[in-house]
Amino acid sequence: MLENKIVVVMGLGVFGGGVDTAKFAARFAKKVIVADKGDEKKLANSLKELASLKNVEFHLGEHRLEDFTNSDVIIVNPAVDENNQYINAAKKSGALITSQIEIFFQLCPAKIIAITGSNGKSTTTALTAHLLANTKSSLYDRVFLSGNIGNRPLLEALEQIKANDIVVLEISSFQLEQLARIKKSPYISCMTNLAPNHLDRHKTMANYAAAKENIFRFQNAGDFAVLNAYDEQCLKWFEKYKNTGRNCVLFDREKLDSKLTADFKLPGRANRENLAAAVEMCRCAGLKDQQLFDAIGSFKSLPHRLELVGTVSGVKYYNDSIATTPESTVVAIEAFTEPKILIAGGSEKGLPFDEMAKAISGKLKALILIGVTADKIEQAIRKTGKVPPIYREKTLQDAVNRARELSTAGDVVLLSPACASYDMFVNFVQRGNMFADLVAKMNVEH
Ligand code: ADP
Repeated sequence: MLENKIVVVMGLGVFGGGVDTAKFAARFAKKVIVADKGDEKKLANSLKELASLKNVEFHLGEHRLEDFTNSDVIIVNPAVDENNQYINAAKKSGALITSQIEIFFQLCPAKIIAITGSNGKSTTTALTAHLLANTKSSLYDRVFLSGNIGNRPLLEALEQIKANDIVVLEISSFQLEQLARIKKSPYISCMTNLAPNHLDRHKTMANYAAAKENIFRFQNAGDFAVLNAYDEQCLKWFEKYKNTGRNCVLFDREKLDSKLTADFKLPGRANRENLAAAVEMCRCAGLKDQQLFDAIGSFKSLPHRLELVGTVSGVKYYNDSIATTPESTVVAIEAFTEPKILIAGGSEKGLPFDEMAKAISGKLKALILIGVTADKIEQAIRKTGKVPPIYREKTLQDAVNRARELSTAGDVVLLSPACASYDMFVNFVQRGNMFADLVAKMNVEH
């Protein structure tokens, strides 16, 4: 498909997908043009990785129409909205439009499990791969975890994947739109749930749902569709697809066998939902529950997602730095029955805190606020009338010290900010790592 062709990689980006695509294209193509509107400084890390490739040119800063009209193949990054003048011009001139995910599905010799949804994708994907990899089954030789997760990018992994392996992917609505072009869906498809997201690009909830539906749309008879028994949209799809030759199954967090949950370490209802989904996918892949029991206990939370980072004097400290919206903080608070001290606040995204305040204010032993949004969160909490003790701190270190002072054995201290981190940190990862470091230091002092 790429042999001896002139290929444009549209959108290099900084998350690795563009680098993976350009490296792959360079192996086969006569010439690869990496086209990105970003400048050299912004793309520096990605450019470094491609520096040694001889047949790659970089056209940065702005797109050039002639690149798109004079090339054979355009490989589009899923972050690029394909409804643009350059793609339109390329189509007119007869170029093939494709993407990393389409190439992967066309060339992958193994069965593919893919997971999408609005929440819980990464956890469910990692858990499914963990269960498949840690059961003593001879059904598959090896398990490949990739997509928006995992440390091996899609097309690099392709070289090693053999027919008797199994692939577990997290897949986005943008990638699913691209996959629809070649009318392919995975062997086992899972939808975790559907809530409004990415509406800046999909415009309407109906468009967003239609993009997600591509994960089932082109499945063959005998393939598996795994859907959430408590999600309205999933139930609609279940009805639509159940008599079409696919095996449609609902995963149900309330019907998990107690033997499956006995050793499960991740807290909360949302994580039980993720477990139910993963178990159902493993069953579809041919595993027996008996084989799963031993593998469940060894799965640990992904970093920054309700991750237990330490226990000091009987107090458990959880890092949920990825919670950058009020709804995710509600999910986090609902995950614990213990007395909870919440550390929240961060940079302003313009989201209201009233719903969150109503859901959590009566459930907190104390609330410690940091960051730009501290005032706004405090006001929302005070409006509810059920006001826990509120403390305002300048730094995360002060907040952790305060939490330590207020807590007693059996409590949970939770960093679940409900806000982005940009007022005080580079990103949520740095915020979560600092929290984990502060807790680790307490452990040493203790
Ligand atoms: P995603 O990959 O969809 O962003 P993650 O697995 O990374 O999801 O989890 C991110 C956060 O979303 C978690 O910290 C938790 O607060 C919340 N979450 C996880 N699973 C679910 C779920 N099944 N339903 C709702 N929220 C969830």
